[in-house]
Amino acid sequence: MNWIRMVNFLSGLLGPLLVCGQGYFQQQVDYWIDVRLDDEAHMLHAQESFTYRNNSPSTLDTLWIHLWPNAYRDRTTALCRQLDGMGELDLHFATEEERGWIDSLDFHADEAKAVWGYHAIHPDIGWIKLNNPLAPGAQVTISTPFRVKIPDGKFSRLGHSKQAYYITQWYPKPAVFDAQGWHAMPYLTQGEFYSEFGSFEVTITLPENYVVGATGMLTDSETEERFMAERASLPTDQQARQSFPPSASTTKTIRYKQDRVHDFAWFADKRFIVRNSEVVLPGSGRRVKTWALFTPKNAGLWADAVSYVNESVRFYSEWVGEYPYDACTAIDGTISAGGGMEYPMITIIGDMGSKETLDNVIAHEVGHNWFYGILGSNERDHAWMDEGMNSFLELMYMRKRYPGSGLTVGGLEFLSGLIGDMPDAHRLQNEWMYRFNARRNLDQPIGLTSADLTSTNYGCMVYAKSALVFDHLSAYLGDEAMKRCLHSYFEAWKFKHPQPGDVREVFERESDKDLNWLFKGFLCTDEKYSVKAVSLDRRLWGGMEERMHLGHRAKGPSKVPFAITGYLGADSLGTIWDWNHGFGHKGRTEYTRLPWPDVDRIRIDAGNRTLDIDRRNNSVRSHGLLRRWAPVRFKWLMGLEQNDARTIYYTPLPAWNGNDGWQLGMAAYNTTFPSQRTEWVVAPLYGFASARWGGAARIEHHFDRMRSRVFQNITVGVSGRSATEFRDHDDLVWYDKVSPYLHFDLKRDPLNRPWEHRISVRGVYIHNGLDFVTSRGERITASDERFYTELQYRAENKRKLHRSLILPTVTRHQDFLRASLELRQAFALNDHNDEIRFRAFVGSFLWKRNDYLGNGLHAWGLSWGTEDMLYDHAYLERNARDHFTRRQYNTQQGAFKTPFLQGGSDTWIGAVNMEIDVPVPLPLALFGSVGMAPITTVTQDGRHTSSVTYYEAGIGVTAIRDVLEIWFPLVVSDRISDEEKFLDRSVTDRIRFIFAFDKLDPTKAIRNLKP
Ligand SMILES: [Zn+2]
Repeated sequence: MNWIRMVNFLSGLLGPLLVCGQGYFQQQVDYWIDVRLDDEAHMLHAQESFTYRNNSPSTLDTLWIHLWPNAYRDRTTALCRQLDGMGELDLHFATEEERGWIDSLDFHADEAKAVWGYHAIHPDIGWIKLNNPLAPGAQVTISTPFRVKIPDGKFSRLGHSKQAYYITQWYPKPAVFDAQGWHAMPYLTQGEFYSEFGSFEVTITLPENYVVGATGMLTDSETEERFMAERASLPTDQQARQSFPPSASTTKTIRYKQDRVHDFAWFADKRFIVRNSEVVLPGSGRRVKTWALFTPKNAGLWADAVSYVNESVRFYSEWVGEYPYDACTAIDGTISAGGGMEYPMITIIGDMGSKETLDNVIAHEVGHNWFYGILGSNERDHAWMDEGMNSFLELMYMRKRYPGSGLTVGGLEFLSGLIGDMPDAHRLQNEWMYRFNARRNLDQPIGLTSADLTSTNYGCMVYAKSALVFDHLSAYLGDEAMKRCLHSYFEAWKFKHPQPGDVREVFERESDKDLNWLFKGFLCTDEKYSVKAVSLDRRLWGGMEERMHLGHRAKGPSKVPFAITGYLGADSLGTIWDWNHGFGHKGRTEYTRLPWPDVDRIRIDAGNRTLDIDRRNNSVRSHGLLRRWAPVRFKWLMGLEQNDARTIYYTPLPAWNGNDGWQLGMAAYNTTFPSQRTEWVVAPLYGFASARWGGAARIEHHFDRMRSRVFQNITVGVSGRSATEFRDHDDLVWYDKVSPYLHFDLKRDPLNRPWEHRISVRGVYIHNGLDFVTSRGERITASDERFYTELQYRAENKRKLHRSLILPTVTRHQDFLRASLELRQAFALNDHNDEIRFRAFVGSFLWKRNDYLGNGLHAWGLSWGTEDMLYDHAYLERNARDHFTRRQYNTQQGAFKTPFLQGGSDTWIGAVNMEIDVPVPLPLALFGSVGMAPITTVTQDGRHTSSVTYYEAGIGVTAIRDVLEIWFPLVVSDRISDEEKFLDRSVTDRIRFIFAFDKLDPTKAIRNLKP
């Protein structure tokens, strides 16, 4: 055993020990890439070599290499599977021409041919077996040619849209090897990267009229520098060209170099308008060149973009640490991975709605130079370290730049006009995002890996909640102390791979505070933090003298600091910070001694800077009745939750149904946004034709802050409805329905997210009233009541690629017990929302008091109209006789679209329905149904029961699927057509429609949105 092998052996043995101690190391990778763009075939032809230096204490015999263009290769890749899960099906259904890949690889290690291969599961990860194992401190040069077919830009980050090129994650690149081992990861759209630092020297050859923006600085490219300067001096209108000019027949070769970065991206577009500037860094006074490259289409919006780059570089340099590079560029491009995407020294920005939003997104993406570029954390596993901390800095930036206005979240800018100016709007926007899921108990811990978060939680937790959490810390420490923490973190970890514990260690050391509540409580759990003011009175302090004390109670992670502001009349007496220890959900009252002897009112978190999930219980007075009372405000139609008041919304409500005629009433409700724990709505309606009051009401309570291993949510509620269901002159029949219910939503397995499970129990009380006048003028009133109980289990997978539903139901009435099973399965046919849908239904009676059921509604049926036993659906006219309204039906039981009377059964039925969307731009669909029901004939020989099969087929229009559909049955089985002949019905009488307007209930909308 020679000494080198001895060292290898020892380091292999001691490696893990070194890692646990101060054995921090990081590998170094220096690249040379020579690439040519073929802008007709959308291909890259390249030669790459990189030197890999092993600074670890381990000997490496294999290198893991990312080959990410292969993520766009086919349906088996992790990227495609993730996009499928997100309901973005364009890669799944992409044509060969739209897909991308990398090939022509031929790896050599130190010029000797190397053995290499692909990862067993992921075609976008490869491995290279080193001919000679790489000892600690040694280096190897790997070289390979490669060819990239550039995918369509609509899928994710790498791509082209026509001749605009977004060349990112494009070259063979070693995965990170750190103290935890290799971090080989497939490319994902949700979930970012982790890369080794090093240097890049990249030579790009392409037609000479392309404008290129890239990581790094141009070197030995005087002609290119002149070309860019010339472009920058052109006025905008001379360049205004929407379409792509032809590519020059001559090419140019330009070279970029850069040290201390961990990725290289470049963007090329012949249409780019070029603007440049420079920014003087605070502190050192060093000058950084800044660029904005944008298309003529966005010239107006981007007019000042280069100044946003300047502001961002200056702001982050001041708050976090000095920008270490010599240039910073923002590029205008349509990419599908969010609003923008960061690369070292260069960022790409998607289409933006306003200048303010553009400034916002540029600041965020430029800010990633610090949180990702310089502080090179593992973004895939700890997304909060880049997206979260960066979103906090973005919040500080927006707070400074736009103190009193607007919303910048995509598509919501229009709300700004509606709501008016708001102080600290950007924080409010983050708070709404957090509360959207947190108030429904559908949030997830920030600390999960990117791939384990739902796409909404990736945005609402990793970005928004993190920003709020660090804002809470900043309010507590003060901005200057916060800056010191950030600077220390930057100095300690720049150009390195910090881990979550490293952030905590620096922040706790610099602030001299225990930050367990933040790093463990807020980042690693989904506990909802809530604090409320309980009392304000004099109490004995230290057994000596009476002092004013605030009683407060908190839930959430233990020991969270919060702000207390005291008032005397309208005057603020000042703000102090105290801790509430939080006792899980038991919530015990704690007391804080106040420094203000004559305080008469307290407000907790008056500055709205903590993570408190509900601020409407944060005030208390020392005198008077209702000391903790939050005032009630009335507001028309809709609004956002206020911090200091409870709001009741109202709106006049006109309505119509065939039996009540025109109705007028009023809806009052307490739910808009975000969701409330107790939600109610009351909507009384007066029918002018029936001269009767009816309407609907609902109240439900959500145990939405529960921490259970079994349940995600429990809801208890009661709903009621009343309407006229038959009217003929003065004769009326009406119904009143009252239904108490209990829903148990089972805990969702984050790895099996698409399935939602709900167990429901409900009681349904139906009262029918009858009031009519006989021919002799006698008035007769009568009533009837029924009571049902129902147990239902609902398992639903809403994945767009293949939606599924499993719905077993058991219903009990005093005369029977019946059970049914409904199954639905849909398969996407393309990325234009076309599907093939299957549905199966079987229903059977488990027990009956008598052979004969008596009430027709209690039987099974293959075809139903406006009758429904439990009054679950909304109809334009129940028991309709009108030509039009009688055609309304709902998908229930046999779900035949053709109306017919046979196919009813008081024993069992079974049916299968199929619909297939025709892949044309119109919402056309074909359908077919087959159903079976028993029929009993009585002859001299006795009773014979046999089963009869019915079928139908036709065409329809699904204007809004499940809500507004029209169906034209064209073919029906003989028994149905015989019935039609007997009843003298024509083919046009088969036309029916679904209009499920109850599914559009706005008071349920927020709760039903995808988490
Ligand atoms: Zn980001």
